Amino acid sequence: MSAYFSKIDLHCHSSASDGALSPAALISRALDKGLTHIALTDHDCILGLEEAEKAAAGHLTFINGVELSSLWRDNQIHVVGLYIDRKKQALLTYLEMVRNLREQRAMEIGYRLEKQGFKDAYSECCAQAKAGASITRGNYARYIVSKGRAQSADEAFNIYLKKGRSCYVKTVWPALMEVVKIILESDGIPILAHPKRYDFTNTKLKELLSDFKECGGMGMEVSSCQMKPSEREYLTKLCFDYGFLASIGSDFHYVGQYLELGYNLIIDPLLPKVWEHRQHKGPKN
Ligand code: AMP
Ligand code: MN
Ligand code: MN
Ligand code: MN
Repeated sequence: MSAYFSKIDLHCHSSASDGALSPAALISRALDKGLTHIALTDHDCILGLEEAEKAAAGHLTFINGVELSSLWRDNQIHVVGLYIDRKKQALLTYLEMVRNLREQRAMEIGYRLEKQGFKDAYSECCAQAKAGASITRGNYARYIVSKGRAQSADEAFNIYLKKGRSCYVKTVWPALMEVVKIILESDGIPILAHPKRYDFTNTKLKELLSDFKECGGMGMEVSSCQMKPSEREYLTKLCFDYGFLASIGSDFHYVGQYLELGYNLIIDPLLPKVWEHRQHKGPKN
């Protein structure tokens, strides 16, 4: 069998971080799109999981997930934790620590935006999101677009939010090793998120994969909705070469061009798939 379109989406966001939809609305959209499995993976936040799990019950397989921000050689690297036990104390303590870090940072970004003539940026972003949500630069990008000060989220990053721009705030995220350890301690499977998004050379990406594997990383994403076929083929090869489990996910935040739950998630049938790996062990959550 050749590569096929999957109805499994293991990377997406809700209003518990920088997604536009509530967790329940996200599940409802996943059902409309005919998905069979979904993992909710909000940035450094698990507050949407309970609502999503309830909405999914009896309709599609729900997987508890989270996307943790980390640092590797001064680069912001995202690690998705799948099948986490969301009640683990180590995870809760860790997320509380990062919540404080994110809150301070989000307030500082809001303060800088106010100097650029925006009003109540931080409180408006909080009001749009679920109580206790992670406020990320993604939330601010949408806020900036809603004020007509950028045409798209990408442009908001280019004008205000990316490194070197007026509202960028440098953040010292926990080390890659540390976030992998937290996911493992929470009985989760650490997956390297969107490996092509870091703009690394192939050599540097392989060094990242080696370090990730050495510290306990178990899988990598090989397909997302905006990926070019050549990128997917390269990631598929790396996944085989490094002996990783394969994961796939749209990284859906809101409806946009080529951005949709379950869209274009093509996978090589011979790859060892993270969702099948779990079935061997029996469902945990
Ligand atoms: P943060 O974790 O606060 O640094 O924010 C990262 C989030 O911002 C990502 O998860 C994306 O949702 C969003 N993001 C990053 N870069 C861009 C971009 N160039 N255009 C639109 N959204 C972006
Ligand atoms: Mn995001
Ligand atoms: Mn990410
Ligand atoms: Mn994401």
